[in-house]
Amino acid sequence: MSDEQLRGAENPPIRRLAEWDVERLRELAGEQGTPLYVTDTDRVAENCARLRAAFPDADVKYAAKAHTGRAVLETVREAGLDAECASAGEVRRALDAGFPGARVDYTAVNPPARDLDSVVEWWDDHPDITVTVGARDTLDRLAERGYDGRVCVRVNPGVGAGHHEKVRTGAAPKFGVPYDRAAEVVADARDRFEVVGVHAHAGSGIHGEEDLAAHRDLVARMGELAREIGDDELEFVDVGGGFGVPYHEDDPALDLDSVADATREALGDLDATLAVEPGRYVVADAGVLLTRVNTVKPTAETTVAGVDAGMTDLLRPAMYDAYHAIRNLDAGDAGDARETGPVTVAGPICETGDTFCDGRELPLPDRGDLLAVGNAGAYGYEMASTYNSRPRLAEVSLAGDVLRERETLAGVTRLERGGADE
Ligand SMILES: *Cc1c(COP(=O)(O)O)cnc(C)c1O
Repeated sequence: MSDEQLRGAENPPIRRLAEWDVERLRELAGEQGTPLYVTDTDRVAENCARLRAAFPDADVKYAAKAHTGRAVLETVREAGLDAECASAGEVRRALDAGFPGARVDYTAVNPPARDLDSVVEWWDDHPDITVTVGARDTLDRLAERGYDGRVCVRVNPGVGAGHHEKVRTGAAPKFGVPYDRAAEVVADARDRFEVVGVHAHAGSGIHGEEDLAAHRDLVARMGELAREIGDDELEFVDVGGGFGVPYHEDDPALDLDSVADATREALGDLDATLAVEPGRYVVADAGVLLTRVNTVKPTAETTVAGVDAGMTDLLRPAMYDAYHAIRNLDAGDAGDARETGPVTVAGPICETGDTFCDGRELPLPDRGDLLAVGNAGAYGYEMASTYNSRPRLAEVSLAGDVLRERETLAGVTRLERGGADE
């Protein structure tokens, strides 16, 4: 796709679940079995292009924790975004996917010693890595390891935003140094490191007016701070990610240009470059989860559709009460005409929270139906677990390449005494 197409009508702000090619998804489920993640790396590239078009003069960094698959990281790198990493493991994976150190930020939140040891070791070969620190202790621990490289100071702006209290980080004392102590910590850091930026992240899910107002507040405070400590001595001011995606079929798409305008306006005049670090926005609508109905149980209030994917495969509904669109690929306009009714899609895990929806109006399911869960590309596979001794699911590209193999039970017990490898 040309640059022009990536910027224009060919690159809409959201790909809805209804727009995925049903026949192709059916084929992939037939070839690979279910549950299965399908990832469209072309869509990842489109999302990157849209971000770069909206923020032409900014550093756009991909928050890798949303989806760290190699194919996604490579696509993001080729699309020109940098990588923002939440652990040493993510730093390693970004470097392995070809990001040069200069395009890798490591955001160290209460970093385990093991993580600091590794990153400082790799810094030898990649001296342009940036480490973002949110506590004076982290500065001391870096200095103890001989690190005197690039540092960015994470600030707690005292402003939070997001779709659920568990993802509002901006006001949580866990993250960043308190705003009123930031200048002092920056001064201390300047004695020992090369301070290249300041950073804040309000939380995940900037969507409505209220979130946008909170985002604007955060950006304005960061602009003020940068001017106070000398913006001409900073390379960048990073105002975080959290750009929302419409999980609900009726939610409008985020107006990225308005967010970009509001950000630039709130930041004010600065010598330093603006940086943003979206995760979800890059990958959410590039992934769907496919799962098959194995049990149909009519009850008084709802029809329970028992499926082979659960909270171990996609945790967001259980963890955040997150809404995900669900489409029956064998019914309705995609397949045969079917009556609709309240349907509860429930997984195989022995937990009450293990449902993808409760009493949602959907085509009444038949055993064997294939369901697709939308916007599953962000924080989907990343949060997968082996709870209930369920091996993790497979991931394929839309083209049919296996990106991650289905785990086996031997994989689950591999580390256990008496397990597969003993
Ligand atoms: C998780 C995270 C992001 C990305 O959040 P999204 O909602 O996925 O955009 C950005 N920055 C930091 C520091 C994060 O922890």
